[in-house]
Amino acid sequence: LFLRDGGLKEELAVQLSFYGFEVEKPESLDALESAAAANFTRALVLDASMLLSDEETLERVSSIKERCSDRLRIVYVSERDDFDTRLLAVRSGGEAFLSAPVDVPRLIDKVDNLTTPISEEPYHVLIVDDDMEQVSYHAMILQQAGMITSVVSDPENMFGILIESKPELILMDMYMPGCSGVELATIIRQQEAFVDIPIVFLSIETDAEKQMQAVSRGGDGFLSKPIKPEHLVTTVTNRVERTRSMRFYMERDSLTGLLNHTHLIQNLSKEIQRAERVGRPVCFAMIDIDHFKQVNDTYGHLTGDRVLKSLARHLQESLRKTDIVGRYGGEEFGIVLFNVDADNAVRVMDKVRKEFSAIVHEAGDAKFSVTFSCGIASYPAFDGPGPIGEAADRALYSAKDQGRNKVVAT
Ligand code: GH3
Ligand code: MG
Ligand code: MG
Repeated sequence: LFLRDGGLKEELAVQLSFYGFEVEKPESLDALESAAAANFTRALVLDASMLLSDEETLERVSSIKERCSDRLRIVYVSERDDFDTRLLAVRSGGEAFLSAPVDVPRLIDKVDNLTTPISEEPYHVLIVDDDMEQVSYHAMILQQAGMITSVVSDPENMFGILIESKPELILMDMYMPGCSGVELATIIRQQEAFVDIPIVFLSIETDAEKQMQAVSRGGDGFLSKPIKPEHLVTTVTNRVERTRSMRFYMERDSLTGLLNHTHLIQNLSKEIQRAERVGRPVCFAMIDIDHFKQVNDTYGHLTGDRVLKSLARHLQESLRKTDIVGRYGGEEFGIVLFNVDADNAVRVMDKVRKEFSAIVHEAGDAKFSVTFSCGIASYPAFDGPGPIGEAADRALYSAKDQGRNKVVAT
């Protein structure tokens, strides 16, 4: 944080630390430069009005950004909100600009979004082709681009490999002995589990009509052999990225980015089955924000939405990566904690409760804080997603009865 306004700086430092950020507050340009040079520094929050008043600041910030552009994101806050200031901010590498009075939760949201890496799981491609020379050529191109490949050379083995390797895209030869690529695509599409895997045909076929036919029978694209390596990589990348983001939106709640109700319950059910198999406990925690209607009524629905987002982010930040967090509905959230017994779940959730209640939310000039109540039920005491959900709900209502801002286990 390199800001003129000391009050804002202190407040930001406190709020950012609630979200798990480590904050530094350099007092000089030299100190800023050396803080920015540290490898773990991911974002600079700078005062844009300082740029205008001072050539040296502008030059040094620009050169910091040039040197560390891969890692460093710059967010500007500014007293002034005119075109010149905004232009200078963009020129010196600013990726976000917030004018005074600074909305602190929004600023944290920006820093958070800019510093959260997108999924870097390698793409998994299944190549279906009877010609081994072609297979190794295409596999090599895709692997060099960092992808994982599986191969089917005999269509009869197709389904075993589909189930095991869970490809995100199928690269399908058009002509194979025994059956055609179009026939194979049709068979794949007739099974619900595989309807959304993109299939791209790869063939020496140059007849446009035949290409169209192939695509209309369940294919998602057509590439002609021989293909340029960059062209193959780009096509695969685009298709897989789109499928990934579609899947993300289907499973996620749009406001918070958490799993939606359906997928939360699906995950709960899966985790209980897993717990049964390996003989471990599982807990299901249900959270309901206290007096949330009052937040909406007092500060407006948009502020209410921001509180929901901040709770979602707080849950994700403070729980383990393996804990599954979802939006149960409205202002209710659900968490699946694998291999945690009820006592430990209470301890974990109580810590989360305390930390969340310390976050200061803002709406214009007003500042306020929000609490939640939480009910916990555990497997094997309750068996199956239905019973464990109902038990957690009862515990939640008893937490509300006992005065709210509490964690209760059945
Ligand atoms: P309690 O402590 O008993 O839980 O009181 P409460 O006010 O939180 O409970 P109530 O069920 O009366 O109100 C829930 C409120 O949550 C009402 C509804 O408008 C609000 N809400 C539900 N979904 C959203 C949403 O997506 N955004 C916003 N801003 N508000 C929402
Ligand atoms: Mg409710
Ligand atoms: Mg509520």
